[in-house]
Amino acid sequence: MSLKNIPYKIYLSEAEMPKKWMNVKAFMPEQHDPFLNPATGRPCTAEDLEGVFCKECVEQELNCTDKEIDIPQEILDFYRMFRPSPLVRAYCLEKELGTPAHIYYKFEGNNTSGSHKLNSAAAQAYYAKKQGLTSITTETGAGQWGTALAMAAAYFKLDLNVYMVKCSYEQKPYRREVIRTYGANVIPSPSDTTAAGRKILKEFPGTGGSLGCAIAEAVEKAVNTPNCRYVLGSVLDHVLLHQSVIGLESKIALDKYGVQPDIVIGCMGGGSNFGGLITPFMAERLQGKNNIHFIGVEPASCPSVTRGRYAYDFCDSAKITPLAKMYTLGCEFMPSADHAGGLRYHGMSPVISKLAHDGYIEARAVKQTEVFKAAEAFARCEGILPAPESSHAIRAAVDEALRCKETGEAKNILFGLTGTGYFDMAAYQSYNDGKMKDYVPTEADLQKGFDSLPDIG
Ligand SMILES: *Cc1c(COP(=O)(O)O)cnc(C)c1O
Repeated sequence: MSLKNIPYKIYLSEAEMPKKWMNVKAFMPEQHDPFLNPATGRPCTAEDLEGVFCKECVEQELNCTDKEIDIPQEILDFYRMFRPSPLVRAYCLEKELGTPAHIYYKFEGNNTSGSHKLNSAAAQAYYAKKQGLTSITTETGAGQWGTALAMAAAYFKLDLNVYMVKCSYEQKPYRREVIRTYGANVIPSPSDTTAAGRKILKEFPGTGGSLGCAIAEAVEKAVNTPNCRYVLGSVLDHVLLHQSVIGLESKIALDKYGVQPDIVIGCMGGGSNFGGLITPFMAERLQGKNNIHFIGVEPASCPSVTRGRYAYDFCDSAKITPLAKMYTLGCEFMPSADHAGGLRYHGMSPVISKLAHDGYIEARAVKQTEVFKAAEAFARCEGILPAPESSHAIRAAVDEALRCKETGEAKNILFGLTGTGYFDMAAYQSYNDGKMKDYVPTEADLQKGFDSLPDIG
């Protein structure tokens, strides 16, 4: 296949779109350690989890055997509103870098929520509706997840309460208004609608809130409201399953042109987009069918996999969610206030953590000014204004392409461009004004987080 025949954008027809998700766990030689119930210290049963999450999501969470799982028609119909997403050959970026590498990116920002999160929001809202629930709750920090879930809840006619970290609620009024426009109720957290919120308000009046507190409020509200469940946008295995649609579409598009990636790169917050992007490629890797180099990129200011411990920890700083064995900085770790690039989560998806621990994934940490430099270069030649989170993957893709320039290798590089950055202009402003700082935590800073790890084997 000659180079010219590969179009700038490779779209799939509706008929070519995947009809099943792929479950990477069914291909893994070893599974990650089970979630533990914090009350008993024993592995979580389906029953433990069903009090908080939708039944079908719990089934998917615990499913380590089915390689493929049908995407229900109702979800396929919703996916059609914003999928397939384009796979783009970054001809302009290649030219700008003068690299012999071939760079491809899968763009997930082509929907109003502006990120890949809608892939799982659509699925989780559908399963809630199917189970006969009338409402769902969640938390949102920066707001992408809250927006995605609001779109999905509107489509499937569910009530949604979004606990939005108070400082984001105040600093990101437009994000908040998008969520409200889709019909969700946005509550600044901490709030007086829950016991957890009232406690924090009493202890710390005037606090800007935290993700941990917002999670605690959303879970409490779900557990205390009839026909209501809590919905989480990353980290968990079933979220990675839903996100496999990203990797599956990418693989179908590349296969059409006989292209096999040598390197697959994604940014890592909780690990869902990266997990979804790599799934079909990792499945083949685990069967000995390829030798792809997988690179997960995280911020140097929140380096869960590159500098964290592989240990059991709470998934949230309020310490109410199940314990997961994962790479973690400790649930009380807080990235510096100077950190502007997102991906602030203290832990990492247990599936991604296990694959990294077993040597299938290289984790890499990058500094934020380098990330924004790559974002700026990308925006100027490829046109898309990338989300700061996505720009971590751009940084690594550019670095790999520049390495190819030195060695003369024409490697195929695929990376995930998870979203757009229109609501992150304060971060861009700080970069443009030359005020952005690179904060890298010291060992002593990290130790404080490690001290919060629960004492479990
Ligand atoms: C939430 C988000 C991420 C990080 O989440 P993962 O679960 O690690 O994928 C990355 N990019 C964008 C645009 C996001 O909104």
